[in-house]
Amino acid sequence: MKSLDQFPKLPLGIFPTPIQKLENISRLLHTNVYVKRDDLTGLGLGGNKVRKLEFLLADAKAKGAEVVFTTGGAQSNHAMLTAAAAGKVGMEVILLLKQRGVTRCAGNLLLERILGTDVRFVDTDDYADIYAEMDRIGEALGKPYYKIPCGGSNALGTLGYVDCAREIAGQGMDFDHIVCAEGSGGTMAGMALGAKLFLPGTKVHGMMVDRGPFDRITPALMREAAALLGAEVEITPEDYLLRDVCGPGYAIPSEAGNAAVSLMAEQEGLFLDPVYTGKAFGGLLALAEEGVFREDDQVLFLHSGGAGGLFAVEME
Ligand SMILES: *Cc1c(COP(=O)(O)O)cnc(C)c1O
Repeated sequence: MKSLDQFPKLPLGIFPTPIQKLENISRLLHTNVYVKRDDLTGLGLGGNKVRKLEFLLADAKAKGAEVVFTTGGAQSNHAMLTAAAAGKVGMEVILLLKQRGVTRCAGNLLLERILGTDVRFVDTDDYADIYAEMDRIGEALGKPYYKIPCGGSNALGTLGYVDCAREIAGQGMDFDHIVCAEGSGGTMAGMALGAKLFLPGTKVHGMMVDRGPFDRITPALMREAAALLGAEVEITPEDYLLRDVCGPGYAIPSEAGNAAVSLMAEQEGLFLDPVYTGKAFGGLLALAEEGVFREDDQVLFLHSGGAGGLFAVEME
């Protein structure tokens, strides 16, 4: 197996991110709940995409790209962080965003306005069309370009969270469970593969905030990332525990998610977002309710960010 250190990374963020105990929530849930502060990754307003972009933009640079494309919904945290990162490393960025979600100049679109980002809305929901449009624009520009998929969730982006699992292993605590949001799949797949490699005995739960099919996407990304690393691992369904927390739909707040956002704010003074981390934390609360966690268990919740989008949602 190769070492993760053999893959070039651009230093975009601040790592390792801290792990803190959530004292009040631990008392309420009768177990030990910790938070991995990937909302503090140090670029833009923080968030999980920074870890992926460190690998992806290093690859773009190595391939001589001058222009970076990516895509997502109108309020994509990933798209905004790609814009922030690309500017920092001297690359042009063009975002092709779907007209799904809040399209007025608020939240991440406001941040992209401040960043001076070239944002173009595309009138399709089909990613194949969007990637074809990137090729058309890139060829017309006549400059070398690099396409980052939605959420940065390809095998290389997934290494960002394999690396995060390695980082957790180095932080001196053992966890029985890790809980994270799953939107495009790379975070969960990387964490699940990383746990297999660096955190044996830790169960990883992916809280699905979109309609998958994550039972296929997750193991596929895990296998592709393992192949990149040359890691010989057999991926079985016990390696990636999935739970549907999507509620009324992707980017549409749910009652359980909003309750979780409020609980975290009131008890711990931390802000989650209703699209990803709130729904994911709602899933953690449901697991606690179902008795999945024992009193002496150590449970780690990944706070994957989402602050940019928080200012564009309407919560009842
Ligand atoms: C993108 C995102 C996620 C989901 O990560 P994926 O790798 O796309 O599954 C979770 N939380 C936040 C805040 C995000 O922006």
